Amino acid sequence: MIRMLRPHNFYFHVPFCAAKCKYCAFYSHACQKPDWDGYCEGILKEINFWYYKLGKISVPTIFFGGGTPSLMPTHVLNKIIKSVSEKFLITDDCEISLESNPGTIDEIKLAEFKSIGMNRLSVGVQSLDDEQLQFMGRIHNADQALKLLESAQDLGLRVSADFIYGLPNQSVLNTENLCKKINNLGLKHCSMYELSIEPGTPFEKMNLILPDNETMADIYGMIGKTLNLPRYEVSNYAAPGEECEHNQNIWNGEPYIGFGRGAAGRVLIDDKWYEQLGDGQRFELITTKERATEKILTGMRTIIGVNITPDINKIINFDFIKNNPDLVLIKSNRILTTEKGMLILDDLLINLIKL
Ligand code: SF4
Repeated sequence: MIRMLRPHNFYFHVPFCAAKCKYCAFYSHACQKPDWDGYCEGILKEINFWYYKLGKISVPTIFFGGGTPSLMPTHVLNKIIKSVSEKFLITDDCEISLESNPGTIDEIKLAEFKSIGMNRLSVGVQSLDDEQLQFMGRIHNADQALKLLESAQDLGLRVSADFIYGLPNQSVLNTENLCKKINNLGLKHCSMYELSIEPGTPFEKMNLILPDNETMADIYGMIGKTLNLPRYEVSNYAAPGEECEHNQNIWNGEPYIGFGRGAAGRVLIDDKWYEQLGDGQRFELITTKERATEKILTGMRTIIGVNITPDINKIINFDFIKNNPDLVLIKSNRILTTEKGMLILDDLLINLIKL
């Protein structure tokens, strides 16, 4: 029997940050001198492991997320990409994205990263207001973030910027001003994340007074109307063709491998889906129903929604769709979330899936 080699997207988790931001609950350590050699050795072992497991599969996208991947020394990024290209087939148009924190990468390193193959940079700008940046515990100011965006654009990289909204005292009006400033940055992709207070973070202990739900809903609606980029996922906006292909593939239910401790992955071996566990080298079979549930959870975040394939058909609550046309629709055999539905996505998903 010929074994089918299905392409997999690759996600590399880089677990180090220069300092911990006050809102952040991602798996990362604030560390002045990370053990880069140890990290790299571990990643190369995982690359070998998956090579022996899956063979020379093709890789349509590679994403370095974190943590702060822009802290990575050039030789480490080089070794990882070189190893991937030796073991797997990096497609000609492979999107290689890297998340960055302004203040951790200069023009020289940016150019080095580009020469190694990185072709898309995501910049954690978060705010254009220095006081807000300080309040969030960011290590950079707005000018540094703008400079990094400019350098990346000048180098011809595809560029995205992340922003956070919903901070204390943030109103529709001042967020609208932020959106207008974003429109002037010449970006083709940006992400607008609503602040959420995560357990165990300094923000949780500060008892912050955040904008109420109604204001948040108004801000969300205003962002969609004001940004000059269309929304293609609950928090992501891009000019047509400039969407993050890596994330889109995952939201659309394509397989991906996570490298690095704690990185998630959904691997397809001989038509069976597996979930990666903890250390990246162990995996466990997941049922068709679990996989269908995941496809709904991620697909409904996007404006293209979810195709009603037989596995999806079995677990969708069609009565909920019929009774809530303002939240969710069916069009050309796809289930779509409306703008109002995007606002209450978590609640919507609980009702949409039959358990
Ligand atoms: S730089 Fe990013 S990953 Fe690191 S602490 Fe801040 S938000 Fe979290």
